Amino acid sequence: MGVATIEGYEIGNAVEAAIRFVAEQPGGARRILLEHHRRDDGQCAGCLTVPVSWPCVVGVIATKALPLESAR
Ligand SMILES: [Zn+2]
Repeated sequence: MGVATIEGYEIGNAVEAAIRFVAEQPGGARRILLEHHRRDDGQCAGCLTVPVSWPCVVGVIATKALPLESAR
Protein backbone atom coordinates (compact mmCIF):
# COMPACT_ATOMS: atom_id res chain seq x y z
CA MET A 1 0.00 0.00 0.00
CA GLY A 2 1.36 3.37 -0.96
CA VAL A 3 1.78 5.63 2.01
CA ALA A 4 3.34 8.67 0.40
CA THR A 5 0.87 11.53 0.79
CA ILE A 6 -2.87 11.91 0.94
CA GLU A 7 -2.98 15.15 -0.95
CA GLY A 8 -3.99 15.10 -4.59
CA TYR A 9 -7.24 14.33 -6.29
CA GLU A 10 -6.49 10.80 -7.50
CA ILE A 11 -5.16 9.62 -4.16
CA GLY A 12 -8.14 11.28 -2.50
CA ASN A 13 -10.48 9.09 -4.51
CA ALA A 14 -8.53 5.99 -3.48
CA VAL A 15 -8.80 7.05 0.15
CA GLU A 16 -12.53 7.63 -0.23
CA ALA A 17 -12.91 4.10 -1.62
CA ALA A 18 -10.84 2.68 1.23
CA ILE A 19 -12.96 4.57 3.77
CA ARG A 20 -16.13 3.05 2.35
CA PHE A 21 -14.51 -0.40 2.31
CA VAL A 22 -13.45 -0.18 5.96
CA ALA A 23 -16.85 1.20 6.99
CA GLU A 24 -18.51 -1.88 5.49
CA GLN A 25 -16.50 -4.23 7.73
CA PRO A 26 -18.23 -4.79 11.08
CA GLY A 27 -15.87 -3.36 13.67
CA GLY A 28 -13.26 -2.82 10.99
CA ALA A 29 -12.44 0.79 11.79
CA ARG A 30 -12.22 0.07 15.52
CA ARG A 31 -9.90 -2.90 14.91
CA ILE A 32 -7.62 -0.75 12.81
CA LEU A 33 -7.57 2.02 15.38
CA LEU A 34 -6.60 -0.47 18.10
CA GLU A 35 -3.37 -1.03 16.19
CA HIS A 36 -2.90 2.33 14.55
CA HIS A 37 -2.90 5.06 17.14
CA ARG A 38 -0.57 7.87 18.16
CA ARG A 39 2.34 6.88 20.34
CA ASP A 40 3.94 9.24 22.85
CA ASP A 41 6.72 9.98 20.36
CA GLY A 42 4.21 11.05 17.71
CA GLN A 43 4.70 7.97 15.53
CA CYS A 44 1.99 5.49 14.59
CA ALA A 45 1.99 2.41 16.83
CA GLY A 46 0.68 0.21 14.01
CA CYS A 47 3.21 1.16 11.33
CA LEU A 48 6.24 -0.54 12.82
CA THR A 49 8.19 -1.61 9.73
CA VAL A 50 8.59 2.02 8.67
CA PRO A 51 8.20 4.78 11.28
CA VAL A 52 5.27 6.93 10.23
CA SER A 53 4.18 10.15 11.88
CA TRP A 54 0.64 9.99 13.21
CA PRO A 55 -1.81 10.11 11.62
CA CYS A 56 -0.77 7.49 9.08
CA VAL A 57 -2.94 6.95 6.01
CA VAL A 58 -4.48 3.84 7.55
CA GLY A 59 -5.33 5.80 10.68
CA VAL A 60 -6.90 8.59 8.65
CA ILE A 61 -9.00 6.07 6.74
CA ALA A 62 -10.17 4.29 9.89
CA THR A 63 -10.89 7.57 11.68
CA LYS A 64 -13.08 8.73 8.81
CA ALA A 65 -14.74 5.32 8.45
CA LEU A 66 -15.67 5.09 12.13
CA PRO A 67 -18.59 7.58 12.09
CA LEU A 68 -19.87 6.08 8.82
CA GLU A 69 -19.82 2.64 10.37
CA SER A 70 -21.61 3.62 13.58
CA ALA A 71 -24.15 5.63 11.57
CA ARG A 72 -25.60 2.45 10.12
ZN1 LIG B 1 -0.38 3.30 11.11
